[in-house]
Amino acid sequence: MSDIDIKSMTLQEITDVCISLGLPKFRAGQIFRWIQQIGVSSYDEMTDISKQLRLQLSESYPIHGCEVEQKFVSKLDGTVKYLFRLCDGNFIESVLMKYKYGYTLCISSQVGCRMGCMFCASTKNGCVRSLTAGEMIGQIHAAQRDAGVRVSHVVIMGMGEPLDNFDNAMRFLSLAGDENGLNIGMRNISLSTCGIVPRMYDLMEKNLQITLSVSLHAPENELRSKIMPVNRKYPLNDLMKVCREYAKKTSRRISFEYAMISGLNDTDECAYKLAELVRGMLCHVNLIPANEIEESTYKRSGEKTLRTFCDILRSRGVNVTVRRSLGSDIDASCGQLRSRRENNTPTGGEINENICQKR
Ligand code: SAH
Repeated sequence: MSDIDIKSMTLQEITDVCISLGLPKFRAGQIFRWIQQIGVSSYDEMTDISKQLRLQLSESYPIHGCEVEQKFVSKLDGTVKYLFRLCDGNFIESVLMKYKYGYTLCISSQVGCRMGCMFCASTKNGCVRSLTAGEMIGQIHAAQRDAGVRVSHVVIMGMGEPLDNFDNAMRFLSLAGDENGLNIGMRNISLSTCGIVPRMYDLMEKNLQITLSVSLHAPENELRSKIMPVNRKYPLNDLMKVCREYAKKTSRRISFEYAMISGLNDTDECAYKLAELVRGMLCHVNLIPANEIEESTYKRSGEKTLRTFCDILRSRGVNVTVRRSLGSDIDASCGQLRSRRENNTPTGGEINENICQKR
């Protein structure tokens, strides 16, 4: 037995398991592909492995996947929000979005979150636990199986703070990129952080080709500390310093996320300060009209304010875009994900329950 579950294991680790069981090495390749590439939820699906061995493996190395507990389909844009049940009964959410270039899955990295950002629903009940790498991979398998599509892009922007679950997030990246697994190129993966500076240096050392997104949301310390407690520990000057080094070292442009909240961080003065903050840096600013959540009184900025803010940044030479909100009728947008069942259908979306429970 091993203390790491089989869906989280690398090919080398599965090889070690096979050796310990006296099995030939090629079995490891077969098992790895079934688990990572095909995403089987049971050993019984491994048709090129004997019944006896399947039984032996299933007893010692159970496959922990994600089961679809609830599913919501947006009537506006076809975006699908999944509520997945984990093997210990906890729930997480993932969002499947269709773009011109393929399907993107927004995955969770923790059950809940302990970062405490004021505007985000995922953090309201704290962090229950971090996800294993296998559970992060499992969200992709479950969504692909349910929707019958290939997920080509992944954003780690669902529930949780991925850099607060650093080792598993790194293990996830290497599994997702494995050519015998899902084979998702690192350039097709974005990881979003609220700014845990020491872990950003650790990530920089890995020199990956992923896109690093940084949740900024305010251009000065007083305001940022007010809405994002993490800023009290890692203030803006430290954050911007690591971002500059990160962009330089990896030659990858950083994407700054900025949720526009009415009357709070959307003034002209904020726009000027933001332009000054990112000046001369290899980066991109993504403005997100803030999504409203029931626990907070924050309202999203109006169209006109958004446009003015965007214009100011642009006039100062900042590369800026406004994020299109998908799945807003099913509470599937940024900051709206939670780890609980919904008793009521979010307005407008279609609910579709327990559709693949017994597989
Ligand atoms: N913990 C990570 C990843 C999860 S959040 C992070 O903080 O980056 C994904 C993005 O949605 C982050 O930029 C987050 O700040 C943003 N977000 C959270 N709540 C939001 C809201 N109510 N409206 C718009 N964006 C929000």
